[in-house]
Amino acid sequence: MKKTLSVVGGGFGGLCSACYLAAAGHDVTLFEKNESLGGRARAWNVDGFSFDLGPSWYLMPEVFERFFQDFSRRREDYYTLNRLNPYYRIFFGGHETVDVTDDLEQTRALFERFEPGGAERLDAYLKQAEYKYSVAMEEFLYREYRSFRDFLNRRLLIEGTRLGVFRKLDRFVGRYFSDHRAKKILEYAMVFLGTSPTDAPALYSIMSHVDLNLGVWFPRGGMISLVRALERLAGELGVTIRCNTPIRGFNVRDRRIHALRTDSGDEPTDGVLVNADYAHSELELMPDEGRSYRERYWKSRTLAPSFFVVYLGLTRKLRSVVHHNLYFADEWERHFDSIFRTPGWPDHPSYYVSCASYDDPTVAPSGQENVFLLVPVATGLDDNTEFREQYAEKLIEHFESITGEAIRDSIAIKRLYSQRDFAHDYNAYRGTALGLAHTLFQTAVFRPSQRSRKVDNLYYAGQYTHPGVGVPMTFISSRVIARSMAEELS
Ligand SMILES: Cc1cc2nc3c(=O)[nH]c(=O)nc-3n(C[C@H](O)[C@H](O)[C@H](O)COP(=O)(O)OP(=O)(O)OC[C@H]3O[C@@H](n4cnc5c(N)ncnc54)[C@H](O)[C@@H]3O)c2cc1C
Repeated sequence: MKKTLSVVGGGFGGLCSACYLAAAGHDVTLFEKNESLGGRARAWNVDGFSFDLGPSWYLMPEVFERFFQDFSRRREDYYTLNRLNPYYRIFFGGHETVDVTDDLEQTRALFERFEPGGAERLDAYLKQAEYKYSVAMEEFLYREYRSFRDFLNRRLLIEGTRLGVFRKLDRFVGRYFSDHRAKKILEYAMVFLGTSPTDAPALYSIMSHVDLNLGVWFPRGGMISLVRALERLAGELGVTIRCNTPIRGFNVRDRRIHALRTDSGDEPTDGVLVNADYAHSELELMPDEGRSYRERYWKSRTLAPSFFVVYLGLTRKLRSVVHHNLYFADEWERHFDSIFRTPGWPDHPSYYVSCASYDDPTVAPSGQENVFLLVPVATGLDDNTEFREQYAEKLIEHFESITGEAIRDSIAIKRLYSQRDFAHDYNAYRGTALGLAHTLFQTAVFRPSQRSRKVDNLYYAGQYTHPGVGVPMTFISSRVIARSMAEELS
């Protein structure tokens, strides 16, 4: 039976869910507070530059192919995908620069140079990562966890140790490698999951299969091309999209949401899927009696970091960087400590530099460069304008010192973005960029539930829920829950 369903939030989680709900025959309206779609993946267009404000690494391409197939569509009819080469460049301290390329033989040679026997050990490491990835795809990612029993399935009980669910990633990597550069290449992606290698379960060594084997890709025009593709698909499926429409609250009676409150009145609904930040929805939109999780729950969570981002439009081309660049400080543990243990602005940060115009001419005017520098930082730090400026200066100076290229005289555009912007723009809890960290006790069944425990027609998708942080994960969470929701509410 056709129902009137509402989606709160137009990030990837909301857009994908809206597509599944509409494809199942429902009448779907998506409400987004901002003037444009994409959520954390919005774009900022200025003077011929198109900055992806959020994600820039397109990983796990099969997830996106599968998404379009679900609607009998072909991804290539919506956007063009390029495999990057090199995948990324790493600056180790100030001393050494290496490229990780799409040629695994070169990566093997790199690991052999790091330490004797490194190539063979990389083979062994990637073999186990590939195995875990296939088990994760078959059994863990594309499913909903409603109880502990769902989590402790047979495969996990038999293979929990082999899958590395119960041990920590840094120790696991340490069994294969002692060279700090090899370890960093295999551990850096934990930042993508909002956690540190000392807290992440070794299960997440799958991330090395994801980047080194499956590759690093980029949609022409930037990640915003993916947002536009979803917007187009949603339109084709009949979804009504209402931007500039923040939801202000839920009208709940007899364990059901009957209407969403907006500035222009109440919107009646038969069911709601929330993509907006989970904590915001529970603490600010939901009346007390409908909350599954109270404030003390959110306070006790390990939040994923916020980010400090410096977007730069440069009036000339750079010689020293590729599309994705990572600077790893020698003692990178200190940076992780400043995020998760003793919160403070890191003095010697590791950071990421994106230069999308390196191989995509559409994102910057000709002869110019679209760059951003990104530092993961703890949530809830003092984030005042004066300090931001100073911190950005320090960062730019450091970038100049490791690349040997002066950029300050060619900055045409500069924008700083951090915690208070995440909180203001997305209603992010304590300014987190990524939601909840991927520790063991915030994985799978331990993440916030995809369905409300107190309100029968309320569901959740997006990075707070299983399987978690990152663009492919939000696609998976939407597929899993929106299809169940569409069926259950029919
Ligand atoms: C700077 C940055 C870099 C990243 N890099 C990568 C990367 O390279 N690769 C990768 O895979 N992932 C990356 N990520 C993570 C990835 O972007 C996120 O995990 C993903 O985009 C989250 O999508 P979502 O739909 O869960 O949430 P969101 O994108 O936050 O969407 C939620 C939406 O809800 C809206 N909303 C909030 N409150 C309300 C309300 N009351 N009413 C209506 N609407 C509301 C918000 O405005 C927002 O549009 C990055 C994230 C950031 C911030």
